[in-house]
Amino acid sequence: MTLVNMAQRINVLNGSTGERLGELQSRRLTELVQFARTHSPFYRGLYDGVPQHVTDPAVLPVTNKAVLMEDFDDWSTDREITRDAAEAFVSDPEMIGHKFLGKYLVSTTSGTSGYRGIFLMSEEELAQAGRINLLPQVVDFLKKGIVSGAALRLVRGRLRSASIIATGAHHILNSIRLRSSESGRRKGSNRNIVLSVLQPVSELVRELNAFQPVMLSSYAGIISILASEQEKGTLSIRPALVALTGEGLPTSEYARIERVFGARVIDSYGCSEAITMSRSCEHRWHHILSDWIIVEPVDEDWRPVPPGTLSHTTLLTVLYRKTQPIIRYDLGDAVLQRPDPCPCGNPNPAVRVSGRAVDLLRTPDGAAKTSAALVVESLAAKVDGIRQLQLLQTGPATLEVRLVPDHRVESESVWTNTLAVLARLLADNELEYTLKRGTAPPELSPGGKLRQFIPAAPSGSG
Ligand SMILES: [Zn+2]
Repeated sequence: MTLVNMAQRINVLNGSTGERLGELQSRRLTELVQFARTHSPFYRGLYDGVPQHVTDPAVLPVTNKAVLMEDFDDWSTDREITRDAAEAFVSDPEMIGHKFLGKYLVSTTSGTSGYRGIFLMSEEELAQAGRINLLPQVVDFLKKGIVSGAALRLVRGRLRSASIIATGAHHILNSIRLRSSESGRRKGSNRNIVLSVLQPVSELVRELNAFQPVMLSSYAGIISILASEQEKGTLSIRPALVALTGEGLPTSEYARIERVFGARVIDSYGCSEAITMSRSCEHRWHHILSDWIIVEPVDEDWRPVPPGTLSHTTLLTVLYRKTQPIIRYDLGDAVLQRPDPCPCGNPNPAVRVSGRAVDLLRTPDGAAKTSAALVVESLAAKVDGIRQLQLLQTGPATLEVRLVPDHRVESESVWTNTLAVLARLLADNELEYTLKRGTAPPELSPGGKLRQFIPAAPSGSG
């Protein structure tokens, strides 16, 4: 099969949605609902009274992270899975990179909600997530890359890749990437390196200069900082492909990153619940991977909003997740769906995500050092017993910490640990902030989502 044939086949596979739900999507939804009802006591109860044969997600009740975490044992479709066992597993740092119950990859990232969740995936589910995400992106890149010669750079650079991630925490990508970089080291080839977002920028620059990756992936905020280093000349690398995840940047930033590195920039809209939900196009729209992902932009009463209107929140259904089914799950993101066909030709619904701007933490002279969301995620991963966490910038060099401890843990020790770990994380990033212990609970967005970071803003925090 030629590359173009392969790309065409993938386009066909990915483009089955038009005005109505694609047939494939609707068949997969029917199967998932049936599976959930059969194997998950939580869904069996929730769907009592729902018709047997479901083809439209709108007939199903809504769920969210808090509800699923409360009903953790009943939610899963494997009766061996219990919250107690999962909590014990994730609080043991020795277990990072290992499989829970010998079969599940574990992710404890707090995502953007700040409410800590534990997500489990089998190898099969993970492979499916990888297939729907990477394959079309790489094929699309190669189609366009051949013309620009970037594909040649990838091959000449032997696909050497550098990933800068939140190491030390339980994260699905952590286990995959640490595993592949370790096996690379053992073989002596070492084509992947994994660096930590918590390493000082100067150290990241040094390691990247020495390694010279042709593929670079990290959170948008970190890539933005590295682009500035490249502009200054301290960083000197020539990646062909730069993959961004996590947070959204202003459109001008993507162009700058592309220009500074001379690389193609791929970015994805994802979350710990679905890893990747979309594929971005050259017009900067996120096209939902509709064969496996259903995204419903809805108002505050969970009624659909028309394309062209900013939604209050978004309901997510992940059609390949069987261990912990995610069906009509309130994600808290406000999205805007494009009302007209996208000029890129991708027929899948195209969305832009609101409120995912990158909030960077800076030194007093204005140099960006890291993203606030990453600091919050690292804190939630390192400190046991955080239920909700929020950082509020109350002055140029003052951060207020707002925290809700888990009821299972003694709250004073959660506070002490949080403040100590936060001080260390900031110092590691050459940041100096005075920390204040907040008395109010974390503030929610209009969509009911917990905002991890509220920057100092002249107009107030909204
Ligand atoms: Zn498009």
